[in-house]
Amino acid sequence: MSTLDIRDLQVSIETEQGTKEILKGVNLTVKTGETHAIMGPNGSGKSTLASTIAGHPRYHVDGGSITLDGEDVLAMSVDERARAGLFLAMQYPVEVPGVTMTNFLRTAKTAIDGDAPSLRTWTKEVREAMGQLRIDADFAHRNVNEGFSGGEKKRVEILQLELFKPKFAVLDETDSGLDVDALKVVSEGVNRAQAAGGMGTLLITHYTRILRYIKPDFVHVFVDGRVAEEGGAELADRLEDEGYDRFLTPAGK
Ligand code: ADP
Ligand code: MG
Ligand code: MG
Repeated sequence: MSTLDIRDLQVSIETEQGTKEILKGVNLTVKTGETHAIMGPNGSGKSTLASTIAGHPRYHVDGGSITLDGEDVLAMSVDERARAGLFLAMQYPVEVPGVTMTNFLRTAKTAIDGDAPSLRTWTKEVREAMGQLRIDADFAHRNVNEGFSGGEKKRVEILQLELFKPKFAVLDETDSGLDVDALKVVSEGVNRAQAAGGMGTLLITHYTRILRYIKPDFVHVFVDGRVAEEGGAELADRLEDEGYDRFLTPAGK
């Protein structure tokens, strides 16, 4: 079992108006095999957490720590984070002209694992995973993300998840812009990845819709850069009924 541990994380960015504190002391412990939903109103810092785990240079860590089995994630380069077992969808460029999906996936897999996968099993694995995600076979020969629709990009993101077999995946708004059929296909992919490797998942979502298909073990509600409330799946049900209003109304008002 592996543990991703986030302790008292404080993160800021530089804006034209000066330094803006976004995360104000976030604590979160995710173990492999667990699914944690990170929910909360817009602007509460959910994507900032994802970007910080991914090592996005814009986000400055002012305090606290992120460790994976005790190793300092914040000291790692983006590549080292991927090799350590973190799946960071954002590290991949939106479009890679001249690089086919097949070559991209194999190169990335080789970089993550440290050695190249056997061509025969790899080709079969890619074909099967693409079939399960209803990704057309000719995508293999297309350039990475070039002309892909929003839904196709999400499927390809989950394809990477299934092929790279990370210890932990951070999925930010994977449900946005998906119709119900695509949402089901994508959710099944996440569930397969979890079942296959006991992956730990941080599922960041504003809406509860995806949680009908991917069942969270824990729900954390972000408000203004902090975890304001935590619970189990029942907390997501409550948020579906009530929304975030009670978190946004000053106490006693
Ligand atoms: P969420 O994902 O919960 O909607 P974000 O992490 O995207 O929240 O944003 C949290 C706050 O930080 C917001 O007020 C947002 O405007 C601000 N913020 C985040 N990233 C940037 C950025 N790159 N430039 C300016 N402001 C940012
Ligand atoms: Mg947002
Ligand atoms: Mg966001």
